Amino acid sequence: MGSEAQERKRLFGTNGIRGIPNADLTPDFAMDMGMAIGAFFRSSRIAIAKDTRISGDMLLAAVFSGLSSVGKNVLDLGVLPTPALQYYCKSAGMSGVMITASHNPPQFNGIKCIDSDGTELSSKNEVELESYYYERKAKPVSWEECGTIQRISNVPDIYVSSILKHADKEAISKLTPKVVFDGGNGASYFTTPLLLSRLKTKLITLNCNPDGKFTSRESEPKPENLSSLLSLMKEGNFDLGIAHDGDADRAVFIDENGKFIDGDRTLSLIVKFTAKKGDKVVTPVSSSDCISDVCEDLGAKLIRTRVGAPLVSRRMIEENATIGGEENGGVIFSRHQFCRDGAMTAALILNIMAKTRKPISQLIKELPQYFLSKGSMHIERDWNIIAKRLISDFPDREIDTMDGLKIRDGKNWVMIRPSGTEPIIRIYAQGHSQAEADSLNKEYRKKVEKANSS
Ligand code: MG
Repeated sequence: MGSEAQERKRLFGTNGIRGIPNADLTPDFAMDMGMAIGAFFRSSRIAIAKDTRISGDMLLAAVFSGLSSVGKNVLDLGVLPTPALQYYCKSAGMSGVMITASHNPPQFNGIKCIDSDGTELSSKNEVELESYYYERKAKPVSWEECGTIQRISNVPDIYVSSILKHADKEAISKLTPKVVFDGGNGASYFTTPLLLSRLKTKLITLNCNPDGKFTSRESEPKPENLSSLLSLMKEGNFDLGIAHDGDADRAVFIDENGKFIDGDRTLSLIVKFTAKKGDKVVTPVSSSDCISDVCEDLGAKLIRTRVGAPLVSRRMIEENATIGGEENGGVIFSRHQFCRDGAMTAALILNIMAKTRKPISQLIKELPQYFLSKGSMHIERDWNIIAKRLISDFPDREIDTMDGLKIRDGKNWVMIRPSGTEPIIRIYAQGHSQAEADSLNKEYRKKVEKANSS
């Protein structure tokens, strides 16, 4: 990704530009990209924030230099969750840049661009921005027009106050739930505890030191990385465990018995208690049928998209949808903003617990019971060949080709698709029990192995 690499490879992946600082993500590259971003965005001021990664200062300074050299004034908002920057951008009608690699390991970092409506850039705009970079369309301004940097420190308060507008403060404080929050050394180390304390929960925090290296746990909030939180929830007397990924756009939950709750169910639970008849709900084809059943019961309209949070956000804007989200814990609540927001998701779950006065395990049990089994394998051949082979394996099945292949198998389905970020094929199977989903996954894995081999 260094400036010497001038061939036109795509710089933006599913979630912005990612790389290892000083290896493929060099200060030179970040500065050139800062110039391109500055020339591409129309607004005269650009907000910039970073997660807790140790290389954040270096990259932020390089991006700032680029922005300043093309005459953009920069508001440096400091360490923030990505959704806090997005909220600020939307409220101020200002474009933004986030220095983050979300849930990737600590050696990574990245650059994500935020539109003035608070959403991530569309892929069409990303391609246009890349042309500014490759064609060096950005021109430095004269010395008296260089941009300045202004530091803004009150965004955590602005952001948390915006979430509190959608929280039932009275009911939650009456319930005074005992909550354990695991910040995973990430960008939410300050904001989510601030929210939970303003909601008057009895709070214990875990891994809320922003050490920049994710020393306490890996950043992806999946069960194998949450052992401290899971055992604390199992052993202690707590009502809810909450964990985010590194930039806190996602939230996952642990029930009062120490059981991890799948993101699919979190989303379905929020839809069940927050959407109304006639509302629109958006989710990718990879989410289970739990959400379809919940929407049908409510009389809400469910819209399926291809996989990718920005696609869900943009479709929600087009459809004026109420709620959207993915099976990985990313929930979008449009009354707050049209992007995934981990702290907002936590407040919505607390709203439901306070309204129903039911334990979270009970609320989850009352949802339609579907189970997902997730697996992956290295991709060895061109995806189109694999897909063709698999389609010919199942001449009688209903196959949805919106994103990869979603093959119906009785009341269940299996989804097989190439990853947008890694050279792997993902296999998701839905069953009516975990064992059923696992065995379906195993069965189809063999077919994929065969189609993937030469
Ligand atoms: Mg993230």
